[in-house]
Amino acid sequence: MSIRPVKRISQSQPTMEGAGVRLRRAFGFGDTSDFDPFLMMDDFRNDRPSDYMAGFPWHPHRGIETITYVLAGSVDHGDSLGNRGVLGAGDVQWMTAGRGIMHQEMPKGDAQGRMHGFQLWANLPSSLKMTAPRYQDVPALAIPEIVDDDGVRVRVVCGEFWGKKGPVDGVAADPRYLDVYVPPGKRKSLPVEIYRQAFAYIFEGSAVFAGASQPFGALREEVVDGEEVLLRDKVGDRSLVVFDSGDEVVVQAGEQGVRFLLVSGRPLREPIAWHGPIVMNTEAEIRQALSDLRGGTFIK
Ligand code: FE
Repeated sequence: MSIRPVKRISQSQPTMEGAGVRLRRAFGFGDTSDFDPFLMMDDFRNDRPSDYMAGFPWHPHRGIETITYVLAGSVDHGDSLGNRGVLGAGDVQWMTAGRGIMHQEMPKGDAQGRMHGFQLWANLPSSLKMTAPRYQDVPALAIPEIVDDDGVRVRVVCGEFWGKKGPVDGVAADPRYLDVYVPPGKRKSLPVEIYRQAFAYIFEGSAVFAGASQPFGALREEVVDGEEVLLRDKVGDRSLVVFDSGDEVVVQAGEQGVRFLLVSGRPLREPIAWHGPIVMNTEAEIRQALSDLRGGTFIK
C-alpha cells in the first residue's frame, strides 16, 4: 500500500449564493482540475435562519450532477419534472441535471434554527451531458453505516466501501462519497484506489493526515507573511485536504475525534466551459444553453 501524501490544505471561504444564503465554499470555479470529476463543494452550516431563509429559488442546471447531504434542518425542493419533497437530517439527494432541469432548494432550520449540510457538484462526461434528468432521493435509513471494532464509523453515501454499497447508482464519474468518524486518538487507513482523485473535508474535531514522506504530526516549513514558520499538518473544522496519488489515506484523529467527508472519483479530463449552474465542454454549448433558456426550450 502507498499512502497518499497531502498535496494541499485550505479552509473553505465565506461566500453568498442563491437569493442571499451565507455559506462556505470549499472549492469551485476557477481551476478545479485537482478535484476532477468534481467541480464544487459548498458547506452550508448555519445557525441563524436569516443567513439561509432566502434559499435557492428556481434556477436551471445542465451538464452536471448535484449531491445534497443534509445533517440538520431540512430542504424543501421542487423541480420541472414535477418532483416535490423534503430532505431531512441524514438524507441525500442526487440530482442528475443532464440536458436540463429547473429546480428550487429552500432550506428550513431545525427546532434550534440550525441548517447544516453540504452540496457537491460532480461533472458529467460529454457523452452524458445531455442525458435525461433524474433525481435519486435517499432517506437516511437507506444509507449503510459500517462500524468497525475500533469505533470508526463510515456512512457510505455513494459508491462501494469495505464491501458495502451505497444506495445511489448509475453515476458516471464512479464517485465514492463517505462520511467518516474516527474516535479520539485513533489511527485509520482508508483505501482509495490509485486511479481516483480524492479530497477530505473536515467538519468536526481535528486530525492529521499522513503521507509516506510526512510522518504524523511532522513539522514542515512554510513561509507565512514573509517569515519561515514551522507548521504541523493538523486540520480542523472547515479544512479541505487534497490528496496526491497513492492507494490509501491514513488519518490520525485528534483528542476530540474527527468527522469528515472523504470523496473520490475517476477524473474525466475533459475541457470545461462553465457558466454558473451550467457546465459544458465548449463555449458553443454554453451559448446554446443560454439561447435555450431565453427561447423557453431549455427543458426538453
Ligand atoms: Fe441547484
